Amino acid sequence: LSPLLRQLGPALYELDPSFREDMRVPARIVADEELLQQMSQDHSILQLVNVTTLPGIQGFAIGMPDMHEGYGFPVGGVAGTLLPHGVISPGGIGFDINCGVRLLSTGLLHEEVEALLPALAHDLARSIPTGFGRHGRLSLDSEQLERVLAEGVPYVVDVLGLGTREDLPHIEAGGYLPGADASKVSVRARERGHDQLGTLGGGNHFIELQRVERIYDPDAAAAFALFERQLTILIHTGSRGLGHQVCTDAVREMDRALAREGIRLVDRQLACAPFSSPEGQDYYAAMCAAANFAWSNRQVLTQRVREVFSRRLGSRPESWPRIVYDVAHNIAKVETYGGKRLCVHRKGATRAFGPGNKELPTAYQRVGQPVFIPGSMGTASFVLAGRSESQSLSLSSACHGAGRRLSRAAAKRQVVGAELRKALNAQGIIVECPSNAELAEEAPTAYKDVDRVVDTVETAGIARKVARLVPLAVLKG
Ligand code: 5GP
Ligand code: MN
Ligand code: MN
Repeated sequence: LSPLLRQLGPALYELDPSFREDMRVPARIVADEELLQQMSQDHSILQLVNVTTLPGIQGFAIGMPDMHEGYGFPVGGVAGTLLPHGVISPGGIGFDINCGVRLLSTGLLHEEVEALLPALAHDLARSIPTGFGRHGRLSLDSEQLERVLAEGVPYVVDVLGLGTREDLPHIEAGGYLPGADASKVSVRARERGHDQLGTLGGGNHFIELQRVERIYDPDAAAAFALFERQLTILIHTGSRGLGHQVCTDAVREMDRALAREGIRLVDRQLACAPFSSPEGQDYYAAMCAAANFAWSNRQVLTQRVREVFSRRLGSRPESWPRIVYDVAHNIAKVETYGGKRLCVHRKGATRAFGPGNKELPTAYQRVGQPVFIPGSMGTASFVLAGRSESQSLSLSSACHGAGRRLSRAAAKRQVVGAELRKALNAQGIIVECPSNAELAEEAPTAYKDVDRVVDTVETAGIARKVARLVPLAVLKG
C-alpha cells in the first residue's frame, strides 16, 4: 500500500490526491488494516482512485469496508458530483439498478414456528420464481408497466392491490422517485421486465428466514419493532432484466457523447455524462423508473411472503409480515450537503441517514434510518441505525454487505456445492436452491467476515449496531 495512504480517524483512511495527477479529490476508505489488505488483492482501490477523476466530483470518493472490484466503480463505492453539470455515471450505480434489501418483521418467536420452517421455505420456493431470466405470475400489460415505472409502489398498492398504505413510509423514498420518465426506458428493457415483477433473479439474490439472535441497542430495536428470538424475513433483489438493460443502453449512449462533452476517461467503464446533458437527463429519468420497478418488485415479493405466511400460519396479526424498512444499495440520489446539491452515487452502498431526517417514518426519527447488512447464507446479517456523523463522514452512506472476497469463478473452484449444502443443513439451515453450482458461488467463504465489516462501520462512526440476525432458511436464485 502507498505511503500516501494515511489514517484520518478510527477506521478511516485517505489517499492523497498527489498519488496520481489526474485525481481531483482524495480517495477515502472505511476499513481496518485487515480489510485494506483484502481490498488490495483486487483492483477496487485503483477503481476508487479512477472515480476521483470524474468531472464535478466533490469532497472525496469513498469506499466502504465491503469494497471489491466492480464495473467501473468498485462495489462499495460512493461519490457525489456537483449539480447541475457534474456527471452521472451508470457504472456508479450498477447494472442492477436499485438492487436493495427489505427487512420484514413478524410478531412470531422462532420456537413457535420452528416445526413449520421447512414447509414455509418450500412454499416460498414454489411461489417465487428464482434464477436468471425467469418470469413471474404477474404479466403486466404495457399501460400497467408504464405506471409501475412512473409511479412505483404507490401504484402497486393502490391499483394492483398488493400491500397496504402503511407499507409506503417504510420504503426509502416512499417506494417511488418522481424523477422517473417511463418513455426513457427502451422497448428492449420493457420487454425484459414486463413479466419479471415478483421474481427473485439469480445467484446473489435471496429471501431468507431469520432469527433475531441478539439486540445491541434496545431503544432502536424497539423503534424498529425488533426483539430477540423473533422471526424476520430479509429480501434481496433489484430491477431484474429491465434495470440491466437500462444500464446497458445508457453506457452506450454516454460512450458516444464523451467526445462532444470533452470528457476523457481513464477507464471506459466509467462512461458518464453531465447530469444536465440530454444523455444525463435521459439516464436519470430511466434510472428513476428502473428504481421504481425494483421497489415494486420487492413489494410484490413481500405480498408473496404474506400469502405463504397466512396460508401456513393463519391470518393472526402476529403472522402478518410488516416492512421494517426497504433500502436501495445501487442508486443515484439528488441530496444536499453543505448547501450544495449533489448527485450521490451509491454503488453497493446503503444510505444511512441519521436521526431527525424528514424522510424517515416518525417512529424512526429519533433513532436514525435502519441500515441492513446481509452477511451470507451461512453467517449473520445485521441491522444498524444511521448516525448523524455519516453526513460528513460518508455522504450519509454505509456498507451494503460483507462484500465478496472471492470471485464467482474462484469460489466455484474452491467449494463443492453438494458439500456446502450438507454443511449448511448440518448447521440447521434449510436451503432452497435448485443448483449446486450457484450455491458454490455464494458460499459463505466467498464473502468477507461480516462481523468485522460491520464493526468497522460502527467504529468509523457511520452507524451503530442494533441487531444481529442468523439464517434459518434461505431461498436462492
Ligand atoms: P450484492 O448486492 O453485492 O450482490 O450482495 C450484497 C451482500 O449480500 C453481499 O455482499 C453478501 O455479504 C450478502 N449475501 C449474499 N448472499 C447472501 C445470502 O444468501 N444471505 C445473506 N444473509 N446475505 C447474503
Ligand atoms: Mn444487491
Ligand atoms: Mn442485485
